[in-house]
Amino acid sequence: MRRSKNNYRCSFCGRDKAEALILIAGIDGHICEVCVEQADEIIQEELYSGKKEEQSKTDFTIPDTITPMELKGHLDEYVIGQDEAKKYLCVAVYNHYKRLRQTRTDDVEIEKSNILFVGRTGTGKTLLAKTVARFLNVPFAVVDATVFTEAGYVGEDVESILSRLLQVCDYNVEAAQKGIVYIDEIDKIARKMDNPSITRDVSGEGVQQAMLKMLEGTEVNVPPQGGRKHPEQKMVKINTENILFICGGAFDGIEKNIAKRVNTQVIGFNNSTEEEIDREHLLQYISHQDLKAYGLIPELIGRLPVLTYLEPLDKAALSRILTEPKNSLLRQYQKLFELEGIKLTFSKSAIDYVAGKALEYKLGARGLRSICEAIMTDAMFELPSQSELKTFEVTGSYAEEKLSKSKLNKLRAA
Ligand code: ADP
Repeated sequence: MRRSKNNYRCSFCGRDKAEALILIAGIDGHICEVCVEQADEIIQEELYSGKKEEQSKTDFTIPDTITPMELKGHLDEYVIGQDEAKKYLCVAVYNHYKRLRQTRTDDVEIEKSNILFVGRTGTGKTLLAKTVARFLNVPFAVVDATVFTEAGYVGEDVESILSRLLQVCDYNVEAAQKGIVYIDEIDKIARKMDNPSITRDVSGEGVQQAMLKMLEGTEVNVPPQGGRKHPEQKMVKINTENILFICGGAFDGIEKNIAKRVNTQVIGFNNSTEEEIDREHLLQYISHQDLKAYGLIPELIGRLPVLTYLEPLDKAALSRILTEPKNSLLRQYQKLFELEGIKLTFSKSAIDYVAGKALEYKLGARGLRSICEAIMTDAMFELPSQSELKTFEVTGSYAEEKLSKSKLNKLRAA
């Protein structure tokens, strides 16, 4: 500390009285307002974030006795059908967490079993991943592969996949390292076949390359706030060895690749094999070869060893989705009406009608919600003011009448 007569200085940064707005005197020195602010930031970062980590450490504990069958039983409560995908998912998740408990001294090291779901939009890919994560009580993040580009281009770096995971578990690195990430629309980063060589494929193959290490397991420097907009932010190191990556995509038109492969395979075999192929549901024969033909690079395919498919939802499945899951749409409406003191019921014809319309709109189960909203809005608007009403039934004709008046229907007709 330097002190001349009537010229006090900040003992930390050296600003003198004339430069600082406020200079606070201590026993043996001074501090200016800028240094006070900086000191406060340091305290917040060191003390507060540390405490938070301690707190949430206990929040994520993976149950240690759970079998794949129990896991599937739980999935069945929330996700309708998709038995094949459920089975693959349960085994992969079970093995993944068994691998986490494996001691380092074992000479056989179990490899990671990242998963790839192929299936149309609205068939339950995200729902499956989310339900598993909730049951296991591990952090879960959904990211969209379409926002990523190769480093240096407009878009996000693949590292920000992990930023989302960090954010959902309050920056608890230890919890994030055991989490599950669902990467949606992985098919959109397929290599562009018709890409002329002069333009680089910055959102396709480049992104696939960038993802390889992360999927396999490595230490990644993650920008905690995500994106590239905060170059000054402090990076957080995350080890991805125990993070389970589940990728999903619709892979539109992949049936053509499957058909081609299946046809060529059949040649040379006994003709009876051909008869056994269910050409209506080619997705069930999907193999890693088809993904390569679609434009995923072999290295990426190799890091997603568990490959399974989700069936398109038919009318019967859509009806079940409306009624059966624990938090099904219709149950949610019933709960809302119950809070008003009204017992709400749906006739079978109403359920059939909604399922049929959802099928027609080709949005999978996603369409159910908007159709139901169009049908139920009038009732939700009017009934709360009719205190004498105790029951209300939605019939097929009521559903048809409401939907035909709605914008949703007009849009379809256009
Ligand atoms: P995607 O396959 O496009 O990831 P989602 O899993 O996001 O589809 O499904 C959208 C919504 O549709 C879910 O939130 C869920 O309500 C419903 N849904 C889709 N498939 C199923 C299913 N098999 N069982 C129950 N609900 C489903």
